[in-house]
Parts: sequence; structure tokens; C-alpha cells
Amino acid sequence: MSADTDVEVLRRQGRIVVVGASLAGLRAAETLRDQGFTGSLTMIGDEPYEPYDRPPLSKQALLGRARPEDTALPRRRDIDAEWRLGVAAESLDRAAKQVRLTNGDSVPYDRLLITTGTRARPWFHPEEAALDGVFVLRTRDDSARLTRKLAGGVSRVLVIGAGFTGSEVASACRELGHEVTVAERGPAPLVGALGGVIGAVADRLQRRHGVDLRCGISVTALEGDYGGRLRRAHLSDGSAIDVEVAVVSLGAVRNTDWLAGSGVAAGPRGIACDAGCRVFDVNGIVTDDIYAAGDVARSPHPLFDYQFLSLEHWGNAVEQAEIAAHNMICAGPERRPHLWLPMFWSSQFGVNIKSVGVPSLGDQLVVAQGTLAEERFVAVYGYRGRVIAAASFDGAKWLGFYEQQIAAGAPFPPEYRTVDRRTETLQPVDPAFPDPHLPTHGATVTLTGHSPSERRVQFVPSHA
Ligand SMILES: Cc1cc2nc3c(=O)[nH]c(=O)nc-3n(C[C@H](O)[C@H](O)[C@H](O)COP(=O)(O)OP(=O)(O)OC[C@H]3O[C@@H](n4cnc5c(N)ncnc54)[C@H](O)[C@@H]3O)c2cc1C
Repeated sequence: MSADTDVEVLRRQGRIVVVGASLAGLRAAETLRDQGFTGSLTMIGDEPYEPYDRPPLSKQALLGRARPEDTALPRRRDIDAEWRLGVAAESLDRAAKQVRLTNGDSVPYDRLLITTGTRARPWFHPEEAALDGVFVLRTRDDSARLTRKLAGGVSRVLVIGAGFTGSEVASACRELGHEVTVAERGPAPLVGALGGVIGAVADRLQRRHGVDLRCGISVTALEGDYGGRLRRAHLSDGSAIDVEVAVVSLGAVRNTDWLAGSGVAAGPRGIACDAGCRVFDVNGIVTDDIYAAGDVARSPHPLFDYQFLSLEHWGNAVEQAEIAAHNMICAGPERRPHLWLPMFWSSQFGVNIKSVGVPSLGDQLVVAQGTLAEERFVAVYGYRGRVIAAASFDGAKWLGFYEQQIAAGAPFPPEYRTVDRRTETLQPVDPAFPDPHLPTHGATVTLTGHSPSERRVQFVPSHA
């Protein structure tokens, strides 16, 4: 049988299994049906809910403008799938082409798509993490619990970690009128994602909005009362603060544990796949029947030194899922690469923050428009003399332009004329990223090296 006939049979009557029933999984399923796949489709998800949206959970939901249970993702079309919700995939048998579930069932596949995303990194001390009042924020249930607690009236909220999620939580809590302390181990908020120069602006923003911001400080212990309720947090400078709520925002852990022993190149930094979303095995050989997309995937990008990028971006999950779905059911020459330019947005303390490219790769930065002092600007990042990223505070309309500059490998520092360009800010400076070897919660796009195999990667647990 020719390869073309094989693909035709697969499209008509193949079995496709998607593990991870969220944003990437749903968009992939819709694309498969759009592109004429008429075989069986099984969606496996460990959460009991059909796919829902996560960005509102730290924004509108905390502010009471949307209920966490009303965040279902809009459907683009009917996907005619068998839904296996509330049950996790436990292991993968590549030889038998089966996914084993925690309820003992095995689900056979011809093509497998892995979209298991990430989970919130838990507080490092399990007994302290179990105290009433200690929260993480990743799921609809997390958001509902936190929203209920905040609505019950609390005197002070402690946010541990000032990456994007932590900063958004702090912003929402201030807007709700709560006293907020933010403890950040690094020198400034958002420092892992945008560097210390922009972090200093985020620092001012938080303090001006009444946040008790403590940088260069770790939380060393959470203390409860006899009833198991959180009462106090101890900090690395020897001080302690009385708190009823602590939101642990220490970044994400990739959901790859269930692939242990499967021979797939999966580890703490994600699942390595090629630019066509085909997963590598641990020997660096690409598989032809297993694909990955979304937050759990890491793949090489020619614009960024062919390093494997792992992204925690909504838009990336959608686009990569669409590419994976297309490639799963077509012949080799028709396959497309996933060369999405990383793009991220956040809103906090009344400011719209957006970035394109990979700021953390930047070795220099110029403020190309506006000024840091006004907290309204576009900062452009350079890497070895070319534009590699841009980040804006209330300047999002410019990012499409910088996207083109990054894609074209335009020279850095930028030399064009634009409006709102100030001569006093045009000297390139060091963007002041922390040492990349130190674990950071902040980056939503992470450079994960050149090797598809994870065998040399060591996991360094993050203690606030
Ligand atoms: C609070 C919050 C705010 C955010 N805000 C923004 C924002 O402003 N802008 C932006 O660009 N991005 C934002 N994001 C990131 C964005 O939501 C993610 O990039 C996106 O959800 C990734 O989708 P995904 O499908 O790859 O993974 P996920 O949404 O993580 O879904 C993976 C699914 O797989 C399930 N799963 C895991 N393991 C198994 C298993 N073994 N078996 C079965 N199922 C499993 C998980 O429970 C989950 O349901 C935010 C995320 C959070 C949590």
C-alpha cells in the first residue's frame, strides 16, 4: 500500500486520541474535522469539565465580572468526539499504540496528540500547602475557591511570586480593596519575563497601587492555627506577616509525568517535538504517530537560534494545535511548520502589557517609543545586533510592526523614525535578566536548549 493510500485510510477511518481536553486539544479536534477527518476522535481529560478558558480566571473572575463556571471555550464547530472526562492518562505504550487510563481502560490510537499543558507549581511544603487559605491558580476550581474566599472578607492577601499570574492576582485583590503583600525572590516583578529594566516599572506600578511589595525576599514558611487555617507567613529577612490568604504563584510544572518510561523525549521542560509538532523519542528520532501542542510542547524555532522554545501563551496553543492537527492527517510534503512568533498579553493595575518575540534572549534593550517614567512605552530587545522582541505598556498597537521587524531580522538598535520617539531614551542598555541558570517563575516563553532529549536536564525545585 502506498503512503498516500495509508493517509487516505487514516483520514476516513483512523483512530485519533487527544490527551488533554483544553484549549489546544479542542482547537486541534475542530481542525481535524474541518480538514475532513471522519474517523473516531477520543478526547481524554483529567478535569471533569469540557474545555474552558484560563486567562479570565486571574482577571475577570477574581474581580467578580465573570463566574469561573461561565468560562467555557466557544465552539467553532461540532467535533463529534467521545469525551472521556474526569479520568487521566496514566501511561503510554508506544509499541501497542495504546494510552492507559487511571480507571484501567486502554484506548488504542493510530495517531496520538498530547496537549496535557501545565499545572501550577505547588507550595514546596505539603502540610503548609494544605492549610485553609493557601491557594494556587490554574484551574476553574482554583479560581472558584479563591473567589469565594476573597468574597468572605479577608484582612491581608499574600501573593508569593510576582510573575504574570501573581501580579494579576495582586492587581485584582487591590481593586477589590484588600491589603496585599507581594513577596518576590528576584529584584523586581516580571523580571524573568521582561528583565530588570522593565521590572523596575512594574515595581513602581505595584507600589503606586498600594501593594506592599517585598523584592529579594523569599517566604520560608507558612504557619497555621490549631484549626488548620493560615495565620502567618515567615520571610527570609526574619520578619513575619499576619495573613489569611496566600496565593502561591511560582510558575508552572509541565504535565509530562505520565509519559515516564514511554521512550518519548518528555521531561520537566516539556515534550520535544519538531517544527511539525511530531514528538521525538529519547534517542532524538522523530516519531510519526505522536504529536504535541500547547504549553506542554517545546519545539525549535529558526528565528531564535533553532533553540527549543516552550511557550505558555494562549495564541501559541491555538496555532500549534491547528498545525499539529493538519500534519497528523496529511502526507509528508503537505506538512507545515509551526513558526509562530511568541506573543503574550496581560492586564494589571490598569495597564495593558504585551510582548512579542523572546525578550529573555535579549542582550540589549532600547525604549523606542514613549518613556519608562511615563509607564507608557515600547521597549525593543536586541540579540547580537538584531531585533528579537518587543514589550509594550499601553502601546500594543505598535507590536504588529515590531513583529515584522523580528521576523525580518531587522538590525538593532532600530533606526527608523516613528512617532513618540524620544532622543533621551535611545541608548541601548542591558535589559538586566537574572542568571538563566536560576529557576524563575516569570518567563512565559522559555529557551530550553538545542537537544530534543531531556536526559541531561535536571529539575531544580523552586522554593520561594
Ligand atoms: C490564570 C491564568 C491566566 C492566564 N493568562 C494568560 C494571558 O493573559 N495571556 C496568554 O497568552 N496566556 C495566558 N494564560 C496561559 C494560557 O491559558 C495557556 O497558554 C493555555 O491554557 C494553554 O492551553 P493548553 O491546552 O496547551 O494547556 P492547558 O490549558 O494547561 O490544558 C491541559 C489540560 O490537560 C489536562 N491533563 C494534564 N495531564 C493529563 C493527563 N495525564 N490525562 C488527561 N488530561 C490531562 C489538564 O488538566 C488540562 O485540562 C493564562 C493561564 C492561567 C492559568
